[in-house]
Amino acid sequence: MQKAILVRYSEIFLKGKNKGFFEKELLNNIIYAVRDYECTVNKISGRFLITNYADKSENKIINAAKNVFGVHSISPTIMIETSVDNIRKYISQIKLQTKTFRITVKRADKSFPINSTEFSKVLGEIVLDNNPQSVVNLHTYETEIFVDIREQNRTFIFYKIINGVGGMPVGSSGKGLLLLSGGIDSPVAGFLMAKRGMPISALHFQSIPYTSEMAKEKVKTLAKILSDYTGNIKLYICSFTKIQEEIHKHCKPEYMITIMRRIMIRIAEKIAIDNNLKAIITGESLGQVASQTIESITSTNIVAKQTPILRPCIAMDKEEITEISKKFNFFETSILPYEDCCTVFLPKYPIIKPRLEKVEIEENKLDIEELVTEALNNIEIVETDNYDI
Ligand code: ATP
Ligand code: MG
Repeated sequence: MQKAILVRYSEIFLKGKNKGFFEKELLNNIIYAVRDYECTVNKISGRFLITNYADKSENKIINAAKNVFGVHSISPTIMIETSVDNIRKYISQIKLQTKTFRITVKRADKSFPINSTEFSKVLGEIVLDNNPQSVVNLHTYETEIFVDIREQNRTFIFYKIINGVGGMPVGSSGKGLLLLSGGIDSPVAGFLMAKRGMPISALHFQSIPYTSEMAKEKVKTLAKILSDYTGNIKLYICSFTKIQEEIHKHCKPEYMITIMRRIMIRIAEKIAIDNNLKAIITGESLGQVASQTIESITSTNIVAKQTPILRPCIAMDKEEITEISKKFNFFETSILPYEDCCTVFLPKYPIIKPRLEKVEIEENKLDIEELVTEALNNIEIVETDNYDI
């Protein structure tokens, strides 16, 4: 008899010829998530099993493992060697704290001699004998006792199934480049893409001296929080000061944001291509602000020549985005009050539905290629961690 934590994953995604690869990614990611606690993580048939941990670490391990993308659910369990006698013996020790209960037996190991329904009845009788105050109720019950008879002679007995975060193991898709501001939306956008298996690099534009060192630290912190879910993030920090000054000096103010966005995408795409990143990710949400109308999005989209721009928050309300931000620990950092480069030189009346010909007329007042090259030559790279997925 041993305590163990059972970790289940959604097998729907893990069928077919990539199964072994996905399972290995997921195993590595779970091992990484629980790295602060002494324990052993193994793969067993269709599940992962965490053992050899101190009692006081159990809840912390569960909390860390349930946020690993690809984890469907988790149960703290007792693991015993499968035999009718062993299971009966364990069940006979149970002292219920509640009146109503049910027993749910699952028999993945078909060599076990009694079928699930029969065995539930046998075990139910044993519990009733030892807990005369209790009654079985299959539909409305306060306690559910799960008996999971699995392969390799292992039976798991548990009371709780804790939902995991779901999604796909990070590393099961190509890598993306997240445009990470200090706001609420972009960390959530990175989180959502990582949830679909996409490892993340990040790119932040700063405008020192118009933006502060604190704003940069804030973005580093956000990248660090995101790396709890994604593994190491390479954060590219690019100076946007000169570009903003040039736009401000030469172009009509109402086109400032549109042109800034288009230059951001050009820089992002160059970094993406040079580093084998397969997509650009932004936190845009349709209609949220002037630069996020479909016309504005079209005018920025068009400058990316060969890299898709993914916008996982596009159809979400601010409240929905905020809920994720809070639940997964970004919010408190995101709302720290430091200027983003986009708020510097903000025009009073930004163009809401930019026409491409007009944007191009304004843009032609700048030497875009030179500005982009100069920005690319002055990039600082910060790593959040030392684990690579
Ligand atoms: P966020 O909450 O992510 O800052 P937002 O609603 O404030 O988004 P904008 O400021 O218009 O919207 O930015 C739209 C998207 O452009 C952001 O989600 C982010 O992906 C990208 N972006 C904006 N500013 C920066 C920046 N300084 N560095 C990198 N990316 C940025
Ligand atoms: Mg912003």
